[in-house]
Amino acid sequence: ETRDLATLLLSRIRDVADYPEPGVMFKDITPLLADPEAFTALTDAFAGIAERTGATKVVGLEARGFILGAPVAVRAGLGFVPVRKAGKLPGATLSQAYDLEYGSAEIEVHAEDLCGDDRVLVVDDVLATGGTAEASLQLIHRAGARVAGVAVLMELSFLDGRARLEAALRGAPLESL
Ligand code: AMP
Repeated sequence: ETRDLATLLLSRIRDVADYPEPGVMFKDITPLLADPEAFTALTDAFAGIAERTGATKVVGLEARGFILGAPVAVRAGLGFVPVRKAGKLPGATLSQAYDLEYGSAEIEVHAEDLCGDDRVLVVDDVLATGGTAEASLQLIHRAGARVAGVAVLMELSFLDGRARLEAALRGAPLESL
């Protein structure tokens, strides 16, 4: 059944060569989103991970993590918390900068959305270098909450994001479908 799920999901992901720049194979999930069977199967699988890990909140990473994470939160009966690129959230935020291949980036969360009782499942589409997910885990720790896990549709294993996340996961699982 796991293999059937992976086969279904993979059949709805389009590889786009040299996008957004030469040398990158972009994983386009819009065919999956447009297919109700695949989108529902993905949502159910993520919601199962949320339940198994005892999550109390779902964090979605801008922007595709919003699309994938919000229905997971609703399905699992949990709150949804957006982690956004810097400068987009109007309230009091925690910010975390992280290194990219060239330069750096910064993400933010509303501090009041996460509390000490929370166990947080981070949801995104693609784990590449792991920089974005690692910074989101650091935000969760700094908010005083615990990490339930990280759930992604797909992991580009040759970039070794799993190794980069290991310390910040503190023993919580990284699940890629
Ligand atoms: P990273 O911080 O390197 O793990 O990059 C993760 C973020 O960039 C995720 O939010 C992904 O949506 C996006 N991303 C990175 N590489 C790809 C790719 N090859 N195809 C689609 N999205 C990607």
